[in-house]
Amino acid sequence: MARRMLLALALVLALSGCGRRVLYVTHTAGYRHDSIPLSREVLAGVAAATGRLQVFATEDLGWISPEGLAAFDAVFFNTSGELALAAEQKRALLDFVRGGKGFGGVHSATDTLYSWPEYGELIGGIFDGHPWAQAVTVITEDRAHPATRHLPETFRIADEIYQFRAFSRERVRVLLRLDPSSVDLNAPGVKRADRDFALAWCHHYGSGRVFYTALGHPDEVWKDERFQRMLEGALLWLTGQVDGDATPRPVPAAGAP
Ligand SMILES: [Zn+2]
Repeated sequence: MARRMLLALALVLALSGCGRRVLYVTHTAGYRHDSIPLSREVLAGVAAATGRLQVFATEDLGWISPEGLAAFDAVFFNTSGELALAAEQKRALLDFVRGGKGFGGVHSATDTLYSWPEYGELIGGIFDGHPWAQAVTVITEDRAHPATRHLPETFRIADEIYQFRAFSRERVRVLLRLDPSSVDLNAPGVKRADRDFALAWCHHYGSGRVFYTALGHPDEVWKDERFQRMLEGALLWLTGQVDGDATPRPVPAAGAP
């Protein structure tokens, strides 16, 4: 491990007297969102307010190694493009999660590592375009999970709306989905014939926990208290501090709880 990283690791351990530690990775090899600096402030603030979490933000992919990850309870990606991860780094990340830790991602965390199929399985879907950037209606499909239980049955939000491939409700539990009646389904780039546009989900990966939300493109979403509370619940769940059902299920029938 590089000397620079050992010093940083010592700092992380010295500063983190209380709370579970989250490594927030904002390294981008493709598109870089302008909201990344704000996202770092927001995640740090959300974590500090709980008194049970500490977020360590980095651009350095060197943290993804057995030694680097050993200091953390969860990894959270806001990345893009083909991250230059060596085979042993990829293995370290998968082993970290399988062994009982957490892995989360926001927005372009599905627009990354296309050439590594196991990553798609880890996060639960692969970005397949964003047909809409507008105000939409979101359906809160799971109002019991700690990440989404603060949200109403439906709500409006303006964001860039992703669609996914390599996504299946047989493998993940959907927490939020787009109300397809709130968008133009004939817009250019719409591919999903099933009209099932999930916007947040979770699942188990080995003994570990995985959470992802497709929201989070503009600054306004990061400033949105509803989004911040979702991140808070997600991080507490990812770090094993609260429980939440991640059992996959089909689209609930209308009117079901
Ligand atoms: Zn975006």
